Amino acid sequence: MIQKIKGTMDILPNETPLFRYVEGVMREEAEKYGYGEIRTPTFENTELFVRGVGDTTDVVQKEMYTFADREENRSISLRPEGTASVARAIIENGKCSDPMPLKYYYIISCFRHEKPQAGRSREFFQFGTEMFGSESPAADATAIALAASVLKRLGLTNVKLHLNSIGCKECRPTYRAALVDYYTECGPRCDTCKTRLAKNPLRLLDCKNPDCALLAKAAPKTVDHLCESCAAKFDMLKASLDAMGIDYVVDSSIVRGLDYYTGPVFEFIAEGIGAQSTVCGGGRYDGLVESLGGPALSGIGFGMGLTRIILAMRALGVDKIEPKRPKLYVAALGDRAIVKALEIAERLRREGKYVECDIVGRSLKAQMKYANKIGAEYTLIIGDSEIDAGVVQLKNMADGEQTEVALDSFTI
Ligand code: ATP
Ligand code: MG
Repeated sequence: MIQKIKGTMDILPNETPLFRYVEGVMREEAEKYGYGEIRTPTFENTELFVRGVGDTTDVVQKEMYTFADREENRSISLRPEGTASVARAIIENGKCSDPMPLKYYYIISCFRHEKPQAGRSREFFQFGTEMFGSESPAADATAIALAASVLKRLGLTNVKLHLNSIGCKECRPTYRAALVDYYTECGPRCDTCKTRLAKNPLRLLDCKNPDCALLAKAAPKTVDHLCESCAAKFDMLKASLDAMGIDYVVDSSIVRGLDYYTGPVFEFIAEGIGAQSTVCGGGRYDGLVESLGGPALSGIGFGMGLTRIILAMRALGVDKIEPKRPKLYVAALGDRAIVKALEIAERLRREGKYVECDIVGRSLKAQMKYANKIGAEYTLIIGDSEIDAGVVQLKNMADGEQTEVALDSFTI
């Protein structure tokens, strides 16, 4: 028996309606804020993620599905996230000279070789948005408002917005120095952190090792080292969120796992879904487009994990989707009646109705039992006599009422 790859999932028809509902809300909300859908390839040149995500990140160092392309002598990777691909796509498609801002969204699967557990898989689904070409906190507030409105519409009252600012190129050196001093004095706890201290000290704050997390808690805070411009922008962002009625807490532990972030960063964290509680993470990435060979174009975006959203909905019991019920079940007795049932079903489907009829050769009793089980609103039973008379009893399953209708022209 061949089984699915560890960390991947099958989503069966009893669950897809919930996924589609969630995706539908995401699409509708994104379009209300003027974001258009973009679709980019599932795999890209590895170099894109090494440059775009950052070669000192866990995603690139440990989690990427990378392999040699057949024939061509190059390394390709399954996308571990969506932002780098979208940035590449806008440069490659000449969008950087369009009127700003550019606003894109996507619902994609991403691939990371992580330890599978509840809310963490190796192929996972993400709703992502990217906005390019505005450095204003009004753009940050808009992106955050979009994420908040999706979560609100999905009924996720157990989710809270955690907000931080990690500063820009100007504030980074002073903060970095303070951080290096702090960690040099107390000594990094794990081996990875020793390398981080030398290569990319900001990553020290992001270590999942419990000892390291304790150190990170007491580390210098980015918000205390912001330059004048970053501090003013962060204040305007907070004022905008207040005005838009979006609750948040300022949380200095939010630093985000990817290299390209600058300025405000945020996570929406859900209560009651276990350790993988970040349902959405995002922030500003002003250096990304330029680092990929495009013009200096600022960006702000977020990624929202679909499975975690659904876990959070389950935790609150707001995950109930009415299953689709057939309008009509046509029960048939004998081959002639089965052919007639197919004819009737097809006629009504062409009118847009969901109709079922027996195609497995059940007994009449079993057909009626099945019609009940799938919740058909109406049923009818046809045999030779109904076909000869051209009329049939249409039964309303809710109240049992029967109406005589013309077999070849009735509608429901
Ligand atoms: P985490 O801190 O949980 O590892 P991350 O910072 O690596 O998340 P991002 O790269 O910001 O995550 O991805 C955005 C969102 O995608 C996350 O907030 C989460 O909801 C979801 N996500 C990330 N990795 C996974 C995964 N392996 N399985 C399921 N969902 C994931
Ligand atoms: Mg991660």
